[in-house]
Amino acid sequence: MRAFKCIVVVLLIAALTQAPFIYRRQELAHLRAEIDKLAAERRPLADTTFEDYKGVIHVHSWLGGHSTGTFEQIVQAARVNDLDFVIMTEHPERHISTADATLKGVHDGVLFVNGSEVRTADGDRLLIFPSDASANDAAKMKTGELVARAGSKGQTTVVAYPHESRAWQQTEFDGIEIYNLYTDARRLRPLPFAFDALWSWWSYPDLIFARINSKPTAALRSWDEAQRHRAVFAIAGNDAHANIGIGLYLASGHPLLEIKFDPYEISFHLVRNHVLIARGARFDQTSLLSAIARGHSYIAFDIFSDPTGFLFSAERDGQRWIMGDELALDERSVLLRAQTPLPARILLIKDGVVIKEARGTTSLEHRTDEAGAYRIEVYLERLPLIAEKPWIISNQIRLTHDR
Ligand SMILES: [Zn+2]
Repeated sequence: MRAFKCIVVVLLIAALTQAPFIYRRQELAHLRAEIDKLAAERRPLADTTFEDYKGVIHVHSWLGGHSTGTFEQIVQAARVNDLDFVIMTEHPERHISTADATLKGVHDGVLFVNGSEVRTADGDRLLIFPSDASANDAAKMKTGELVARAGSKGQTTVVAYPHESRAWQQTEFDGIEIYNLYTDARRLRPLPFAFDALWSWWSYPDLIFARINSKPTAALRSWDEAQRHRAVFAIAGNDAHANIGIGLYLASGHPLLEIKFDPYEISFHLVRNHVLIARGARFDQTSLLSAIARGHSYIAFDIFSDPTGFLFSAERDGQRWIMGDELALDERSVLLRAQTPLPARILLIKDGVVIKEARGTTSLEHRTDEAGAYRIEVYLERLPLIAEKPWIISNQIRLTHDR
């Protein structure tokens, strides 16, 4: 009888400890239902000037040591996600050029660019694309020297992990990684994740991301600060390794149970960079990298809804510019306009400060003659768990006084 009581108590405790995780599963079910409801309100694409090419930047394979991911898995995941491009960023290895050895060119209809992720002698971490064997001596160079060398070779440099770095502010880098998925994912606490996985993983392996996704406030501040002086584009990095999760393994290394938070297939769905290129123009490595370098792109958490159709533009007397562009002010005012495919909360930000907000709408307009760096953040305010986290972060339009 006593043993029976003991078993009942243990079962009761087990049930009580699981109750919050069962509730958390219900929250994700609710999120899924709301995402589906929102999708039904999608507005057809009105603008046909640009083609929206979606892809991921900052991806590691087995080359470079930190990951076990194969080329096969990466190509397959890109294809399943219907991506247009993937920018690989391999860590250098002493005896080979990982930049030359990684994926490049078109595979299964997806364009791959071979890049590197390096650490400089100053301790800064940079993404360089396209890259080559010269990435191997990055560790001996100062950040400024490396950025200048990359620039002279026509390579693009992006500051990764801006909060960890030091010397990059004084250099002529091109872009900044304002969101890093790996940094967010590393905040996972193993025990709660194990229970969440137990209840939620099987039905919502990607929506679990809603629990750890955070607004990159500090990086956004660094970016706004950097833009006071010149144009700097922003990207989101997937930093995909396919190595975060929990598992039970046999001594042989064979997995009995393996739940990965960041297999490529899921990582490539969570956050993406959308690049706008004139419809009808050729899509290849040159046009892609040129559009990225010009800031003709925006960041979106595609997992929560497809953002395709989003546009941030400036108009004056029938002429139009888009995010990433710069235009000189004259006596005529400029009309700034943001359009989203789904009803949302839209913020217009000037030099890091919110100057206008629209709620429950698919467009925001603002007429101005004030110089500054303007950008847009969009929030899916009706979705539980993520209402306060950005869905879309645009690149900036710069209005300047003619020199
Ligand atoms: Zn990385």
